[in-house]
Amino acid sequence: MATDRGARTEPTAFEYQRADSWDEAAELLRIWEGEAKILAGGQSLVPMLNLRLTMPAALIDINDIGDEGGPRLETSTEGQVVVIPALTRHSTVLASSVIAEHCPMLRAAVGLVGNVRVRNRGTFGGSVAHADPTGEIPCCVLAMGGTITLQGPLGTRTVPASEWFRTYLTTAAEPDELVTEVRIPSAAGAAWAFEEEVRRFSDFATVSVALQARPGRIPSIVLGGVADRPVLVTADVVGPLRNQERTTVTAVADLAARSTEPESDVHASAEHRRRLVRVLVRRALVRALGLDDGNGAPS
Ligand SMILES: Cc1cc2nc3c(=O)[nH]c(=O)nc-3n(C[C@H](O)[C@H](O)[C@H](O)COP(=O)(O)OP(=O)(O)OC[C@H]3O[C@@H](n4cnc5c(N)ncnc54)[C@H](O)[C@@H]3O)c2cc1C
Repeated sequence: MATDRGARTEPTAFEYQRADSWDEAAELLRIWEGEAKILAGGQSLVPMLNLRLTMPAALIDINDIGDEGGPRLETSTEGQVVVIPALTRHSTVLASSVIAEHCPMLRAAVGLVGNVRVRNRGTFGGSVAHADPTGEIPCCVLAMGGTITLQGPLGTRTVPASEWFRTYLTTAAEPDELVTEVRIPSAAGAAWAFEEEVRRFSDFATVSVALQARPGRIPSIVLGGVADRPVLVTADVVGPLRNQERTTVTAVADLAARSTEPESDVHASAEHRRRLVRVLVRRALVRALGLDDGNGAPS
């Protein structure tokens, strides 16, 4: 006998359309005037449809566009840049030799996304567009100084990751714009660490820390799970690391934790999240920079 558990587990009716080019997808978005949603890997969108957290009039399936060969390296006047087409699956990012050499932190972080089924379907552009504040990919793209390329009715434009994440699941994209690729400056030779705390295997992180440091520069540190978007730790907090002294590791980890104002929710209290920031930032600094803070090896 069927039971009514009080929760909707199927979507409302929608039109389904396929686009096999970015131009066609942008045109369909324009026609639907903000009432359509892009369907990429469906790993976040389909659960939201089933729970009726989103009820679009139409889905525009972009999977026929393909991943355009996956991550590639380009050389420009600004140096080497890794270009990741939006429909690149997480599993392709993991297997890419370009990513392994030029974005090692990203590779480590993508290995922590969900489980193998999620990584086989979920896309890089989908994760950046979905903008979950605890997602590994949004944290890395911000820490690595990435840029998001959009296509819309007026053509293409780029948005730096520092201006991309606006609030929960909300970005700088207009409703009629698509993410077509993400560009990340090569981080070959940079020091890095990606640390996170999860309650159970394949869960989203409670708190995560992405740290990347180019030779001779102070590290870029991004925190996930402490606000409505990934948060870049400010220069006044990380500045003391210039001194490369033992005591600065603990001091910077403390300052980073105090700089956050997380909210309590069903997963963790605000205080617990702050404590996790302190532990994970310290761990990341010790691992990435080899700065011993006198408290022993990170666990
Ligand atoms: C069991 C499970 C565990 C998971 N665990 C994690 C985890 O630990 N960490 C993590 O980061 N993620 C996790 N995810 C989410 C997963 O990484 C998704 O792949 C990702 O969030 C969205 O990518 P997608 O391609 O599936 O996008 P979709 O679900 O297809 O779309 C997500 C949103 O982005 C929009 N969108 C997609 N592509 C574009 C585009 N090119 N341009 C504009 N808008 C676009 C859609 O309209 C929709 O609003 C998990 C998912 C599941 C089901």
